Amino acid sequence: MARFVLALDQGTTSSRSVILNEKAELIGQSQKEFTQIYPKSGWVEHDPKEIWESQLETISQLLKGSNITSSDISAIGITNQRETTVVWNKVTGIPIYNAIVWQDRRTSDYCQELAPKGYAKSIQDKTGLVLDAYFSASKINWILENIPNAREQAEKGELAFGTVDSWLVWKLTNGKKHITDVSNASRTLLFNIHTLEWDQELLGLFEIPVHMLPQVVESSGELALTDKSIFGVEIPITGIIGDQQSALFGQMCIEPGLLKCTYGTGCFLMLNTGNEIVKSNHKMLSTIAWKIGNQTTYAVEGSVFIGGAVIQWLRDELGFFKEAADSEDLAEASEDNGGVYFVPALTGLGAPYWDANTRGSIFGISRGTNKSHLTRAALESIGFQVNDILNAMAEDVKFPIQNLRADGGAAANQLLLQFQSDISRICVQRPSSIESTAIGAAYLAGLGINLWTIDFLKANWKMHSEYTPQLDQEIADNLLDHWKEAITRTLGWNS
Ligand code: ADP
Repeated sequence: MARFVLALDQGTTSSRSVILNEKAELIGQSQKEFTQIYPKSGWVEHDPKEIWESQLETISQLLKGSNITSSDISAIGITNQRETTVVWNKVTGIPIYNAIVWQDRRTSDYCQELAPKGYAKSIQDKTGLVLDAYFSASKINWILENIPNAREQAEKGELAFGTVDSWLVWKLTNGKKHITDVSNASRTLLFNIHTLEWDQELLGLFEIPVHMLPQVVESSGELALTDKSIFGVEIPITGIIGDQQSALFGQMCIEPGLLKCTYGTGCFLMLNTGNEIVKSNHKMLSTIAWKIGNQTTYAVEGSVFIGGAVIQWLRDELGFFKEAADSEDLAEASEDNGGVYFVPALTGLGAPYWDANTRGSIFGISRGTNKSHLTRAALESIGFQVNDILNAMAEDVKFPIQNLRADGGAAANQLLLQFQSDISRICVQRPSSIESTAIGAAYLAGLGINLWTIDFLKANWKMHSEYTPQLDQEIADNLLDHWKEAITRTLGWNS
């Protein structure tokens, strides 16, 4: 009998499902967008019911489309948008508020009030993160403070908190399992990444009762069984992992020193640091990549706010082209950037600069500057920003980084990947499938039922293309000098 692995990829704007066959080949996928709720400026919510229903719909569409029945599915893997916070009633299973999404800034002031009290350092030491509204803890606190009776119910043990993985497992098991994996737990600001336990002091600080929290499990293995009422048969859930970590695993960056960059709306870099927790001096995050068997693997993470989104901006606001993919031909039309440098600080600058108030700037415009130069400068800005993070990471880990595995929508752009290689002097590899996020969860699920081995998966990773430095070093240095100058002149705008 054929055996298939189903992976659920619950993202920020859409739910997706993919199926891999026994040879770990992706044979089908389905996707459904769902509603983004913006109740106020800076607030972003999702309806947990819609998250669940959209996910279920993609599963049934996919099974139908691939002519596979639920009894052909041997294992399920789950990957998810991280940090997004759901609180529900343990008895009724009904959420008491919408999911507060990772992007939501409503608890910024609350976090800033905690900062001077001296907690930031111990938070970084224990969790590897920074005290920020991005993570789950302050969002849980907000729900307990603002939803009528929530705090009383929580104190009585009637409420459950979960990130989206927990919520999906709760629904899939019909309320039998309240769990999360270590990678998701490590994004809550409540989890000690050294001891792998919920931290009592942080729970006290954020006033969160411990019995709201899920049990923390490994990322691969026999984690739960779906309830028969969902698919008609019980299916083991054997992989759970946060989305960026899943992409790292899907790209088979499973040894220390291996790095992936997801070139999407933003760019997300994650570097495997093995069993070592690397403490960053550049405000990068230290996080858990995954735990398999008794082995915990750690990573450092850095992100660029505006990556592919700068291309979207040229497309939608300036009307330069119809499709993001057309940016490549337009940029190729000129030999170089014509002296134009674009700092796309459209929502401020993140790591390693951290200037939330500054805004974008374009330098070096002359009478000869045209759309092609501006587009090239925009694509180059993605590479420059990724390079800045690469350099900061290399300093943190104290060894040179030689390879970068690229995925995400903008990784389809060859000019961008060649430029990345040219300025960072590294080898950039693009896999044959850029669906790394869903694939990572599927791999973990297959490993969890011993369908595959790590060696098999490593051999299964296939390269689509590889980019090595071609540009003269002197020219690359000159480009980097101009970029640094452009950054210097952009920082502090609006301050
Ligand atoms: P996300 O998962 O963050 O929504 P995707 O991985 O789907 O993003 O990538 C979409 C982003 O990549 C968009 O911002 C788009 O402008 C950009 N993009 C897509 N294709 C290309 C391309 N060929 N060249 C440059 N940018 C691209």
